[in-house]
Amino acid sequence: MSIQTVRGFRDILPEEAAKWQVAEEVARNTLHLFGFKEVRNPILEKTELFVRSIGETTDIVEKEMYSFVDKGGENLTLRPEATASMARMFIQYSLYHRPTSNKLFTIGPMFRRERPQKGRYRQFWQINAEMFGFAHPAADAEIIFALITILERLKTPTFELHLNSLGCKKCRLRFKEDLKNFLKNYYNALCPDCQRRQRINPLRIFDCKVKECQNILKNAPIIVEYLCEDCKKHFEKVKFYLSLLNVQFILNPRLVRGLDYYTRTTFEIILPEIGAQNAVAGGGRYDDLVEELGGKHTPAIGFAIGLDRLLPYVPNLTKKRRPLFLALLGEEGIKIGLLWANVLRERNIVVEIDYRFGSLKSQLNRANHLDANWSIIIGEDEIKRGKAILRNMDTKEQINISVYPEKGLEQLLEWIKK
Ligand code: AMP
Repeated sequence: MSIQTVRGFRDILPEEAAKWQVAEEVARNTLHLFGFKEVRNPILEKTELFVRSIGETTDIVEKEMYSFVDKGGENLTLRPEATASMARMFIQYSLYHRPTSNKLFTIGPMFRRERPQKGRYRQFWQINAEMFGFAHPAADAEIIFALITILERLKTPTFELHLNSLGCKKCRLRFKEDLKNFLKNYYNALCPDCQRRQRINPLRIFDCKVKECQNILKNAPIIVEYLCEDCKKHFEKVKFYLSLLNVQFILNPRLVRGLDYYTRTTFEIILPEIGAQNAVAGGGRYDDLVEELGGKHTPAIGFAIGLDRLLPYVPNLTKKRRPLFLALLGEEGIKIGLLWANVLRERNIVVEIDYRFGSLKSQLNRANHLDANWSIIIGEDEIKRGKAILRNMDTKEQINISVYPEKGLEQLLEWIKK
């Protein structure tokens, strides 16, 4: 059998890729308006980076990373997400005091060995935006607003913004203790994974998809009730600024997100009508991460949009450009045709040629398949008369133009204008 893609990996074919390109362009332009600058990070990082940032007892690190020892004996991992790399880069290049380098974004593939299903792949693409160095709640509101602006510009159907605060280390300490004690009462009813989580990292129980565990959690303590004065004030301000910007949100006290580094504000974008994998974007604050990775204390916040999940639900905004087709007959036709192609492309006209150079009929057929709006037919007889034929592929009207590109182009533009 011929070789196929690896399970959970897929190809994006041209029609779909065009839609991706436009979506990425919309995101790029929007993020530029908010002052974000694009960066490109490696796909491969040291495994330790993700273990230390995402957290040893998260699903991602425990079960989903593509990790391997390379031939030099280094432990490496295909990045499962981008925030850790961004924070690593921020520290590595000491970007603290570069005013142009604290609002960054990147677009690229991530890798997680999850069970593949619709909307869930082992290689998937994210648009990641991160803000470093701003503790003020206005930054939270702004980055959420940037996310929403992108979704609106992409004409995303009805979506919900779910919002929560996970507090700081201080608030979480008390919460974890209470959650642990609460879960102790249900210990035997928890799934084996959650029994382990109960002992080592109870917050991660909120990631569990097992129904029994979810039911137990319905009565569990919620983090917002444990927020310290500062975290409470911060959260109130975020909500206030979002309302000021006319952004509607749904408070979701059980939204914890699957990574350990989040603090305070966390959020997710849900498309309520699309079924199981309905979170198309998510993010939050991670005020301690840079410091935990060995940098200076740097509050930060970011989001990730999952392109594979979102794009099937947004309209195709691609502006189609119909090509001009060159039907070339004989060696002379090919030679003059190649010169024409050059001149046309300099004018930013999309040019198509059928390099099999079959009969005129078969070449014009090809032009129709390519949805060309104009064809120029250059055959040996025409060349002898110094002429080429310009054909309107929609109306099938034809006129003679000069076979010499400079003169012919003028006549062509004249006719197209008409
Ligand atoms: P996370 O990095 O887990 O916060 O995820 C951010 C976004 O990435 C999610 O809201 C999804 O849209 C997308 N995403 C995460 N995992 C996958 C996956 N396995 N396949 C496709 N998209 C994903």
